[in-house]
Amino acid sequence: MVFAMPSEIRMTQHLDPRSPWVLSTHDLGRRAGSMREVSLVLPAPADLGVDMIGVPKDADVGLDLRLEAVMEGVLVSGTARAPLTGECARCLDPISSEVVVDLQELFFYSDEDVSEEDSLLDGELLDLEPTFRDAVVLALPLSPVCTDDCLGLCVECGIRLADAGPDHRHEKLDARWASLQGLVIDNDQEK
Ligand SMILES: [Zn+2]
Ligand SMILES: [Zn+2]
Repeated sequence: MVFAMPSEIRMTQHLDPRSPWVLSTHDLGRRAGSMREVSLVLPAPADLGVDMIGVPKDADVGLDLRLEAVMEGVLVSGTARAPLTGECARCLDPISSEVVVDLQELFFYSDEDVSEEDSLLDGELLDLEPTFRDAVVLALPLSPVCTDDCLGLCVECGIRLADAGPDHRHEKLDARWASLQGLVIDNDQEK
């Protein structure tokens, strides 16, 4: 495998027509200009997310797609809409929202003159999952928040500042107690 050319690796990876994200382009018939619009609901693939937020596995992903035969292949464009669940990066409360992404990918008929990043048709089949996955990961917030004005947690005690109220503060007595304790320990050690 190490010595195989990229095109040979790809040609050995046949798509599974039963996989939900593998779509058939059969009825486009390779006639440039032929076009089909489809609306689908597909189960979200596993492990789609970043640290704090992601699309739950098997959640409904709504797709409105346009499949268009062009000279070099099949152009897929449209939108995908998926639910998101995660944690607020400031207060750690659970959050749920939604991500909507634009998809656009040209799936080439042939691996001639294409680069390693380009997508290929496998016969009449194409796999939309990598396109969807890339678009979602780019659209996810790195620091998702429950609300834009979330106050987060108290750095001293970890309570949610929204619950604690505006008067919440910690006296700086703590430092003095700590030094008193230090004296006691020192005395003990001298005995
Ligand atoms: Zn929050
Ligand atoms: Zn506190």
